[in-house]
Amino acid sequence: MTYSFPDEMLHVTLMDGQARVLLCRTTQLSADAARIHHPSNTACAAMSRLMSGTLMLSVVMKNPTDSVTVTVAGDGPLGKMTAAGMQNAVKVTAEYAQADVPLRQDGHLDVGGLVGHHGRMSVVKDLGMDRPYVGQVNLISGELAEDFAQYYTASEQVPSLVALGARVYDGQPLSSGGILVQTLPGCSDEVIDQLELRSMLFSDISIELADQPLDRLIELWFDGLKPVIVKREPVMYRCDCSRERMRRALAALGKEELEDILRTDGHATLTCHFCRKARVFSEEDIRKLLEDA
Ligand SMILES: [Zn+2]
Repeated sequence: MTYSFPDEMLHVTLMDGQARVLLCRTTQLSADAARIHHPSNTACAAMSRLMSGTLMLSVVMKNPTDSVTVTVAGDGPLGKMTAAGMQNAVKVTAEYAQADVPLRQDGHLDVGGLVGHHGRMSVVKDLGMDRPYVGQVNLISGELAEDFAQYYTASEQVPSLVALGARVYDGQPLSSGGILVQTLPGCSDEVIDQLELRSMLFSDISIELADQPLDRLIELWFDGLKPVIVKREPVMYRCDCSRERMRRALAALGKEELEDILRTDGHATLTCHFCRKARVFSEEDIRKLLEDA
């Protein structure tokens, strides 16, 4: 499917820096994820929302090698869902991407029902230090936007409005994206009130994204609040897995496990959860791992 608008992320300031906005369109990259994972409609929406939320964390990280991994472990049929972002690239996987639940009574996809209303969202930021930064919150609804907002407010102590949405038909996203609005220290009460009012404008963000360019949405939603687009960048689906990384994962299984593989199958096939690429390690490869161990 070809889409009218490219996937991108806009970085915007409001009122001379009293607040900042990230707005992203993630339709194409959600379609890429759907091609890999063949999700149900509701799972497609859940994965798309999670990727939009994860990208809004990763695009503001400072170093090119910084990365963020967001895991949503709810008690719904989707099982555990994980997205990882590095700069402007993201990837996703879910335990049971084919699982589905009936539509909600209002006709919307029941993302909260599929993810589960109870559980944890964890955010792990790898900043190249000895230990990663880990933030965890309980899920509020499993709809993900509220859960991300809760994470920002509770774990990063930044008051935040978040909307995430995806319209899906036949397992394919028609439109997908998200917005994050954060007030910065020194933000006036008037601006805070205005932002809360404006948040109603983007509560159904996937519908707004369907037929409008991002720049136009910024103009519409933040009219009178001096919106300035300070940066725009493409966003994409990308898996950075490699044979070498898989070799290390295999080696980490340990001597006994590797010997067991040699006895039973004689070789090992490892499939990446994020891109489904399979890599085969032959008997010779495994013997070499055992020698190096
Ligand atoms: Zn991969």
